[in-house]
Amino acid sequence: MTTTVIAGGRILDQAGERSGDVLVDDETGLIVEVGPSLSGDRTLDATDSVTVPGFVDLHAHLRQPGNEAAETILSASRAAAKGGYTAVIAAPDIEPCADSASVVSDVMALGAVALCDVVPAAAISVGRSGEELAPLGELADLGVRLFSDEGHGVQNAGFMRNALDYASSVGTVDGAPLVLAQRCDVASLSIGAQMHEGEWSSRLGLGGAPAEAEELMVMRDIALARLTGARVHFQCLSTAGSIAMVRAAKAGGVAVTAEVTPHHFTFTHEACSSYDTNTKVSPPLRTTDDVAAIKAGLADGAIDAIATDHAPHAPDDKERPFDQTSAGVIGLETAFAVALTELDIDLAAIVGLLSWQPAQIAGLADRHGRTIEVGAPANLAVIDPHHRWIVKPSELSSRSRNTPFAGRELTGKVRHTIHHATPVVENFEATR
Ligand SMILES: [Zn+2]
Repeated sequence: MTTTVIAGGRILDQAGERSGDVLVDDETGLIVEVGPSLSGDRTLDATDSVTVPGFVDLHAHLRQPGNEAAETILSASRAAAKGGYTAVIAAPDIEPCADSASVVSDVMALGAVALCDVVPAAAISVGRSGEELAPLGELADLGVRLFSDEGHGVQNAGFMRNALDYASSVGTVDGAPLVLAQRCDVASLSIGAQMHEGEWSSRLGLGGAPAEAEELMVMRDIALARLTGARVHFQCLSTAGSIAMVRAAKAGGVAVTAEVTPHHFTFTHEACSSYDTNTKVSPPLRTTDDVAAIKAGLADGAIDAIATDHAPHAPDDKERPFDQTSAGVIGLETAFAVALTELDIDLAAIVGLLSWQPAQIAGLADRHGRTIEVGAPANLAVIDPHHRWIVKPSELSSRSRNTPFAGRELTGKVRHTIHHATPVVENFEATR
């Protein structure tokens, strides 16, 4: 047994902010003492820093199995730990697709060596093809709570209704409901899209996806959530119209939740005029009004979580011309710092959007995002909210380098991360 004390800092969680040391024990994985002037076998200095519940990413593409040139579960988990994450939901669009108990079990086995909890999401339909329902009940028994077809989302309304009806009939497993997560995009409206359809796509002569491609599916799935009573989670919302609909749906008592990404509240479609392939994302970067609506939604609770949509692509992919490259950017290591730098909301709200709110959606609230008290699992991040740093792609832990934040100065960095009471990041560096 080795105990570690996080010493000299403040504590911030759902119960508020206070000063105090935190003592954790790696044998039980639990917090064993909280209070002033504690000592342990080893000490993590938290002077001028804040101990918070570890972050939970609802949406990250870890690429293993299938595309280990871009990322592995281990390399992604190292990036996640450096970003303060103690749990990451692994997107199911791997090769083979995570639509069966055997593939989900493989991901769980690979995750055993990771620096954070790797929790698989599974596909809604077999092969994410939208034709045959995946065995949601069997997958839920394995521990899957979040299901998504990724890509353009489930296109057929009848199929989505059946999937929601089935999820609803399964009910809760270990106290958590099944959640169908949807990447909303009516595919027939975004054929050939390279960016947002608007002023800049016209100027640049690139094909665009209109805001309506996203909004029509958000509208449909709010209606289906109301009809079936099942839980729908909207992934990476990008338009003002989507956020307004989600806000209104929640006010009307419909069980929907939503996430946004750091890149969607930092950049607009104008960024694509650089032809930097790290501005090509899906859904695309939108307008100034959309960015303002995302920020307003984060401030007033219309949006529940910040998720990364971490999408590693190997350099030879992102070095192609704009219209031939894959969409997506990495984000695990920068999400907290970008949020703190870009958003005009307080630290507690940002930590809630990164930690206990996504933990709740993912059915992980027993292990992550917990109040920092004796007996709680020791999944923690220690953040220095004043640390200024410049993003250098070569220093990131992901196997891929496709960050849109290269060269940007950010304020706030994760100093230590503690996973199951074991330090996995110490003084800004991963321990393994
Ligand atoms: Zn995604």
